[in-house]
Amino acid sequence: MARRARRHVRARLVAPLGLYIHVPFCSAICAYCNFSRGLLDGPLKLRYVEAVTAEIRGAPDRFGWRPGEARADTIFFGGGTPSLLERHEVAAILAACRTAFDVAPGAEITLEANPESAAIPFLEGIRAAGVNRLSVGVQSFRQAELRRLGRIHDVAQARRALAGAREAGFDNVSLDLMMWLPEQTVAQWLESVDEAVGLGPEHLSLYMLELYPNAPLREAMARAHWSLAPDDDAAEMYETAMARLDTAGYRQYEISNVARPGRESRHNMKYWTDGEWIGFGPGAHSTLAGVRWKNVSAPDDYVARVAAGLTLETDRRTLTEEERWQEAVIMGLRLQAGMSVGAIAAQYGVDLDARFGAELQPFREAGLVEREGDRVRLTRRGMLVANEVLRVFI
Ligand code: SF4
Repeated sequence: MARRARRHVRARLVAPLGLYIHVPFCSAICAYCNFSRGLLDGPLKLRYVEAVTAEIRGAPDRFGWRPGEARADTIFFGGGTPSLLERHEVAAILAACRTAFDVAPGAEITLEANPESAAIPFLEGIRAAGVNRLSVGVQSFRQAELRRLGRIHDVAQARRALAGAREAGFDNVSLDLMMWLPEQTVAQWLESVDEAVGLGPEHLSLYMLELYPNAPLREAMARAHWSLAPDDDAAEMYETAMARLDTAGYRQYEISNVARPGRESRHNMKYWTDGEWIGFGPGAHSTLAGVRWKNVSAPDDYVARVAAGLTLETDRRTLTEEERWQEAVIMGLRLQAGMSVGAIAAQYGVDLDARFGAELQPFREAGLVEREGDRVRLTRRGMLVANEVLRVFI
């Protein structure tokens, strides 16, 4: 039987929250995508916007806060393709956030945009509504690579989106690129990196293509006899790109992310530093006061539940003490600054040296992990094999 939405025990407000808004619509489905998304359905999108604003406005009551009591200092529209929203829809969602939360002056407000839906009037409209950071899903500056990935934008649109962001007044722009694509050589990958650097974004995210088991891209690769470059090339792609970005004045602060000083993603830092955030919209995840939950994923189910006042939560569980420190360690090690052994001991009473020092030693000897004072971190080479190192703590 469907459960009515319940109130949470009043969650203690410790540090400013992050607010995540999931927009589950895309104009086409990319051949590698494993995110929570579906094809754009206009009428459903209208009902989604009503539902997500209602969910946000209902948050204070749900968590036992007064409207405007809980401070939020980051808002992130992710997807899916948030740039498929209309300007006024973005404004309405932000207005709901400002009613329900005390959105800090100077809060970082990011919206993910795809190049094909980032026209200047849209960008100007969302900038006027308060969005101050744009994250553009470029993925590649090579047309053949975009086609192989099933992306619907072209290279010219990607360049125009970056120029348009500047014209609309964005001074904080991030750009996503993907490496280790089918048939991609190291030199071709570096062409995309160089073009990205030439456009001068404040932030870049570099991801390695991951092929999940039933990805349509796998079939397309088999049909066309495309292959991925060897693993050694993946390492070279990563290390060479990071070295070029160092030279260009970017600072790597996380396994996949570099930024100009001070332009790190404040929202994503909450995920990596044991922070708290509330996710709104279908499939959005939340972590608050040691409790984690996920909203139902299907947009029509989500909309119907909001309208009927039914619970949206699935997979709600309180993290155990062990899960909390494990996550703090694993997420902390994603950061270039690494994690503080003393902070983990103080917060969770876990002596990492005593428990894991011996197991980490071979990684230290191999130059994959290093210790500097109280901090342990992955070296750049270690970041390439992060999963192997992190397994020590699980
Ligand atoms: S645009 Fe992004 S979310 Fe949508 S299908 Fe492509 S990769 Fe997935």
